[in-house]
Amino acid sequence: DVQVTEAVAWFQAYADRLQQEKEHLTELDSRIGDGDHGANMARGWKAVKEELESFDQGLSECFMQVSKTLIAKVGGASGPLYGTAFLRMSMKLKGEASVSPGDWAELIQAGAEGIRQRGKVSGGEKTMYDVWAPLVDAARDGADLEETVLLRSLAETAREKAEATREMKATKGRASYLGERSIGHLDPGAVSTALLFEVLCDTLS
Ligand code: ADP
Ligand code: MG
Ligand code: MG
Repeated sequence: DVQVTEAVAWFQAYADRLQQEKEHLTELDSRIGDGDHGANMARGWKAVKEELESFDQGLSECFMQVSKTLIAKVGGASGPLYGTAFLRMSMKLKGEASVSPGDWAELIQAGAEGIRQRGKVSGGEKTMYDVWAPLVDAARDGADLEETVLLRSLAETAREKAEATREMKATKGRASYLGERSIGHLDPGAVSTALLFEVLCDTLS
């Protein structure tokens, strides 16, 4: 199960991974946006990592801390969106000490709902929501699996769904200014979301 120690390890490993992927995410965002997604995420999660170094509270509080830092430090469209996802997940975790395989669907759903409302999306608009939403179903399908198997399936689904944004036409966020010309490029927020779940899988297995 994922307890606060594992959550901290997950978020710190994601911060490190974002430093490595910064250029890549920036390149993706420079094709269909303003080229700052890598910098935004690397900066915000670096702050998260530093704050979690001395973290001594519970699981829900850990997600809350991440939410606050992302809202304060990431900026752009993605800061408030990820911030809302972590806020809703924190609320879902209130009073819980761990996340077991059967809990992931509800947890991810809470995060996805936050993004859906905050971003005013419904799916197919070429955003990070196009990864978050299908992960709810994947987690539900895998609720009875062993943890490492479930997390592997989430990571694979996340990567597949991020790839699927390539053929979508953006109708939300900056990429929507490009209209048809956004087709053929990956959505940077979808890719950073895929990385989040890939790192979860790598950290726990
Ligand atoms: P900005 O676009 O303000 O520069 P970022 O580059 O950090 O912010 O983040 C861009 C990402 O945010 C996009 O790739 C997309 O996944 C996500 N995004 C933008 N607008 C929305 C929205 N309305 N709903 C959901 N996600 C969105
Ligand atoms: Mg940008
Ligand atoms: Mg920007």
